[in-house]
Amino acid sequence: MISQNQEVAKLIDGKPVSKKIKDELTEKVSKYLAAGHRNPGLAVILIGENPASEIYVKNKILACKQIGIESHMHRFPGDVQTKTVLDCIKELNANEKIDGILVQLPLPSHLPTEEILLAVSHHKDVDGLHPYNLGFLFAGKPALQPCTPRGIMALLEAYEVPIKGKHAVVIGRSNLVGKPIAALLLQKDATVTSCHSKSVDLEGICRTADILVVAAGRAKMVGASWIKPGACVIDVGTHHIQGDDGEKHICGDVKFEEVQKVAGLITPVPGGVGKMTVAMLMANTIFAYEQTLGLAH
Ligand code: NAP
Repeated sequence: MISQNQEVAKLIDGKPVSKKIKDELTEKVSKYLAAGHRNPGLAVILIGENPASEIYVKNKILACKQIGIESHMHRFPGDVQTKTVLDCIKELNANEKIDGILVQLPLPSHLPTEEILLAVSHHKDVDGLHPYNLGFLFAGKPALQPCTPRGIMALLEAYEVPIKGKHAVVIGRSNLVGKPIAALLLQKDATVTSCHSKSVDLEGICRTADILVVAAGRAKMVGASWIKPGACVIDVGTHHIQGDDGEKHICGDVKFEEVQKVAGLITPVPGGVGKMTVAMLMANTIFAYEQTLGLAH
């Protein structure tokens, strides 16, 4: 619950929440295996040598291992032709042991991201980025949902953050984060304001937010003066920056130290939303597996 009288904001810790979700999935998979079903399968397509993508993919594969999902890596050099990638996706779409196909973004600039994402069967679209699944999401119907927004909703639920009738402000309108989280908050009866780079008086709008989701991709953009006392602040941003000590640090879009003195609840970076994204990828893979095998979920 949001409290306005504490000295610093309560942390929304993605670690225990994501662990609980992964533990439940692990239990589900072991029950399915005991009943004689095959392992769920996730194919990961990684193109080029982006160090951040390498880390994200490593974490995803590790999570698959923990849960009992078979992961299948498909690596391509940074100068791969579009046709080679599309042929790989076609094969994976037809492969009965593959329930989910993840194309790690961003792709090298010569590749048509939209065409490649569209080529993934919507049944196997575990990133929830296919227009078919996005359409269901905006219609408020069950479907594969983008992992980060789904993870944010799970965090809000775990920490019992009131949503109904509250003013939720989302900074960012990407298909990956901003638009879907705005739609999910709307479905939970929040009054939602979507902001972007052309919004006027962004700081003033944010100050009216009971729930503020920041997904602008601008390191430490949001300061304490942007925050309504007691608000719930969800920081989606992820940036690798050089600290004063010369070491590399990870930070978000929010100035954590000062904002936590005003907010009621806040996600840390790292350890907040990022943890949930991987857990929700796993949940989506199991959802796709259950749909394919006709298992109850
Ligand atoms: P994106 O596609 O670059 O979208 C950024 C959005 O923020 C755009 O809609 C842009 O507005 C808006 N924006 C940029 N600067 C702004 C400003 N100064 N004021 C207001 N709005 C501004 O980024 P994304 O993919 O949504 O990702 C956002 C951030 O979340 C990134 O840091 C990314 O690394 C991180 N992320 C983290 C996770 C995770 O698991 N933790 C997952 C996904 C993304 P316009 O539309 O007007 O350009």
